[in-house]
Amino acid sequence: MLGMMQDWPLLCHKVIDHAATYHGQREVVSRSVEGPFHRTNYAQVRGRAMQLAQRLDRDGYGVGDRIATMAWNTWRHLETWYGILGVGSIYHTLNPRLFPDQIAWIMNDAEDRVLFVDLTFVKLVEVIAPKVPSLERIVILTDDAHMPETSLQNVVSYESYIAEADGDFAWVDLDERTAAGMCYTSGTTGDPKGVVYTHRSNVLHAMAALQPDMLNLSSRDRLMPVVPLFHANGWSTAFSGPMSGCAMVMPGAGMDGASIYEILTQEKVTITAAVPTIWLMLLQHMEKHGGSLPDLKRVVIGGSACPRAITQAFQDTYGVEVIHAWGMTEMSPLGTICSVKPEYAHLEGADKLDLQVKQGHPPFTVEMKITDDENQELPWDAKTFGRLKVRGPAVSSSYYKGRGAEQFDAENWFDTGDVAHVDPHGYMQITDRAKDVIKSGGEWISSIEIENLAVGHPEVAEAAVIGVAHPKWDERPLLVIVVKEGQSPSKQSLLEFLEGKIAHWWMPNDVVFVDEIPHTATGKIQKTALREQLRDYAFPID
Ligand code: ADP
Repeated sequence: MLGMMQDWPLLCHKVIDHAATYHGQREVVSRSVEGPFHRTNYAQVRGRAMQLAQRLDRDGYGVGDRIATMAWNTWRHLETWYGILGVGSIYHTLNPRLFPDQIAWIMNDAEDRVLFVDLTFVKLVEVIAPKVPSLERIVILTDDAHMPETSLQNVVSYESYIAEADGDFAWVDLDERTAAGMCYTSGTTGDPKGVVYTHRSNVLHAMAALQPDMLNLSSRDRLMPVVPLFHANGWSTAFSGPMSGCAMVMPGAGMDGASIYEILTQEKVTITAAVPTIWLMLLQHMEKHGGSLPDLKRVVIGGSACPRAITQAFQDTYGVEVIHAWGMTEMSPLGTICSVKPEYAHLEGADKLDLQVKQGHPPFTVEMKITDDENQELPWDAKTFGRLKVRGPAVSSSYYKGRGAEQFDAENWFDTGDVAHVDPHGYMQITDRAKDVIKSGGEWISSIEIENLAVGHPEVAEAAVIGVAHPKWDERPLLVIVVKEGQSPSKQSLLEFLEGKIAHWWMPNDVVFVDEIPHTATGKIQKTALREQLRDYAFPID
């Protein structure tokens, strides 16, 4: 017997309907790309998204069309997502920090028909657009008064584009498995791979993400996603925010420490989310200029491992709870969050920080396991590490055009490419990317763990650890350091700092100082480029 409940499809635009109906006056505040702060609310965001959907429909765009956005987090970008979703088209976020040729490659692969772009990136798009024959129209996310001089064809301002529609429109009805969004992984190895979300996966994922043990979002929060919407599905904030009815604070292009501090305090943000580099900038800004964060309760840190020193500074100096998170584009993106279960509620001080270095436990909707290279499951003993595999309704089942098929097995387990261990309470800790792990004498050394500790040294600004060929041990760790302005620690003091904190055989064989460590377009240490930069390095002969 089948059950007798309604088949209410899980569609993304129902999320903005809910927000507009039950939290209609809740603020959406943005630092506009033009400069001044802009204030609107969910009711107006929905109304204007409806106008956009109507206009897109009138222009012949609908189910299955890929519509790209290259934009900062603002109310207009949020409206654009919902407008695109509401006609059944697919929002395709582009990362402007990639090389122009890479962006053109991705746009051609996706066959984007329209591009919504911020003023900041118009010059970049002038280079890219001629290489993308599928592109029919470019909408600049501004009003007529701010339209720039440009060589681009078929350009219109967003405000005049939507002004031609009165908003008397109904969202298109869809199967919940219809493609909703697209985001390419950064492709540090090989070509980028397209991840395609469904309406259903986005809705289920947002419901999972806002739970108390995850982001713990409610209508009483003021959420600021510093993580851009173009990074890993915007960490789902465009859905989990409106679904919870929280106010949203959008930082626009202001990504420096001073701008983040200003908007955090002025707009009384209660929860915010970004990669560690952003928080380092904020903390360095506050170290220099002073300040406090009286309204901020939680800061979500993920995208790469959150160093212990950042967690400690937020919690001990500013009284803000750190929520370490792990995820990936392929997981919509949330995989785990390090919230404190009762088993660990007694931890304090250094012991609590030890726990928070872990990436945490998954929400309902994510299953995970660790295996060896032969796909045999490994024990959850907090030390045996292996390949981390996941599955669930918001995890990719394949990449666009069937690329990377070897990462998916017959039982739907997706090989994340991360190496991790799990403790008996289900707390996962990433020890490396599979391709970055250091193999010394047949054993694995976690580069991430050493990096995390090294950045705790008071004179270190950034640290990376890579494996370098060694005649006896195959590979040995090399510690690469960027020092803080005006500091000059000795190699010896850095190694001594690690002593007692890591196993003796994990101790880096040497330290090199560099001016800068290369980063990927999403702000992660680019190990491939760093290894390339140091390819002539050889360990001193003992
Ligand atoms: P990109 O590679 O394009 O930046 P993703 O955001 O999808 O895109 O990257 C996901 C990867 O980032 C994960 O597989 C993992 O290696 C790394 N990562 C994300 N969060 C964390 C974290 N908290 N700790 C360590 N690594 C992380």
